[in-house]
Amino acid sequence: MLPQYINIHTHHARPGDALEIQNVLSDFDKKIAVPCSVGLHPWYLDAATIETEMQHLKQASVDGNVYAIGECGLDKVTETDWALQVQAFREQVVIANELHKPLIIHCVRAYEEVLAMLKELQVAVPVIFHGFNKGLELAARITDLGYYLSFGQHLLKQESHAANTLRMMSSGQFFLETDSSETGIAAIYEKAAALRQIPLDTLILQLQKRFKAVFRYE
Ligand SMILES: [Zn+2]
Repeated sequence: MLPQYINIHTHHARPGDALEIQNVLSDFDKKIAVPCSVGLHPWYLDAATIETEMQHLKQASVDGNVYAIGECGLDKVTETDWALQVQAFREQVVIANELHKPLIIHCVRAYEEVLAMLKELQVAVPVIFHGFNKGLELAARITDLGYYLSFGQHLLKQESHAANTLRMMSSGQFFLETDSSETGIAAIYEKAAALRQIPLDTLILQLQKRFKAVFRYE
């Protein structure tokens, strides 16, 4: 049975009763013992090591504890070489497709490029844009393509794009996360339920159902 809270993306292990997908972004050759996602983050790519890292990532990805590939994606603010980012993202989309595991996407000012690549690579697995903090129009474009959004700490800020988008979006294609923040997932759920104007219990059930479908969780 699934716990009440599902944290789709976190960088901190927190003791508690939530199902947390821990983000692993290096040392893929070490043992993987908890539910996690594995991905080469665009911030930390290194041309000298990428081939070995990708090989380790590929080997690690088959583990049953690996729920998703990512976070991976494109970032126009980071210093990392663009061509290297594109190469790393491309390879990880291919891995996700091969293993039928969802993708957790990191995207900063590169939505057009990411969407174009997903199309070009004929992504055939669920895609989740994590840490979403953009407007309703972009949100609708993404969910209309069948992809998902994941919202985190930005929801707690007054009048953030994230809060407004979650309040207004007609699609239910979203998840919740804590990412690198210290906030607990329960606080994010409470805020999300308030924004959606639904009881917390209803939101918990919706997200459990969605998680089971997207992650093929039994
Ligand atoms: Zn993250």
